[in-house]
Amino acid sequence: MKIGYIGLGNMGGPMCRNLIKGVNHQVVVHDLNAEAVATCVAVGGTAASSLAALAAESDVIFTSLPTPRHVEAVVLGEGGIAAHAKPGTVFIDLSTNAPAMVKRLAAELATRGIAMLDSPVTGGVPRAEAGTIVVMAGGNEAVFEANRALLAAFSGTVVHVGPIGSASVAKLINNMLAFCNAAAAMEGMTMGAMAGIDMKKLFGIITNGSGDSAAIRSLGNRALVGKFEASFALDLAYKDLGLAVELATEHGVPGMIAPQVLNLMRMARGLGLGGEDSSASLKVYEKVMGREVRL
Ligand code: NAD
Repeated sequence: MKIGYIGLGNMGGPMCRNLIKGVNHQVVVHDLNAEAVATCVAVGGTAASSLAALAAESDVIFTSLPTPRHVEAVVLGEGGIAAHAKPGTVFIDLSTNAPAMVKRLAAELATRGIAMLDSPVTGGVPRAEAGTIVVMAGGNEAVFEANRALLAAFSGTVVHVGPIGSASVAKLINNMLAFCNAAAAMEGMTMGAMAGIDMKKLFGIITNGSGDSAAIRSLGNRALVGKFEASFALDLAYKDLGLAVELATEHGVPGMIAPQVLNLMRMARGLGLGGEDSSASLKVYEKVMGREVRL
């Protein structure tokens, strides 16, 4: 079997390298960034001569791309998967994508005999590197079962959620919670800094108390210690939360919290922080209050 892998960034890179190491198949890789390709070739991957060539020669194709538009372009664009993959190919999108886009791509690919799973992941770069990332999948269950071992090769937990698009719904809800928890943590830690209490003690109390969350612990390794280089870019977090707010709107669910956090991210992007880590939203609080918030 030949596997194609498109998008070798912060998440796709480590997941692809773990896939290459974990399976006994040839993995053909493609990215616009030659350095990203080189890191996968170094562990046994093969650089594709083009997207079209990768699509034509692969039995299973993975994508890990920034936004729904990037996935759409790679699937439906000229030289893309729909035009070049053979019938019987399975396409697995690991990106955080819009449920509506996922369903549209799956329907288009189905007319060409190509099955699709929407298969977003959660756990961030450290767990992608450790091979313990959580993978959720939507789509035909038999197709999922046939490819379960491939997904397990680079992840710790693999869950079939339901029909196509259902995994993207689960992922957007998960990320909405993560970003709202992170914003609450930023606000709380700013309050602690302004009140002048011991920040390390405050952090220790929260992370051992009922205010604990994966978000505040992650913040403790990043913004709260002044590390802002992107592990998960603010621009991508903004994309995810925007999709989650659209999902709430589609279903008429009151948006009491997520739209506020989206505005916080909008302010951070307005300050030019879109390329920094999603935790750089802390800088909005810092700017407004005129002081750093650090452990
Ligand atoms: P990234 O920007 O680091 O990587 C994206 C890669 O795609 C880049 O290497 C880029 O060169 C490549 N690319 C873009 N367009 C391309 C094209 N047309 N052809 C080939 N390559 C192309 O992004 P990331 O952080 O790795 O995120 C990837 C996806 O995973 C996103 O949908 C994101 O929302 C999701 N995600 C990210 C995290 C995280 O912590 N970073 C966690 C879970 C899910």
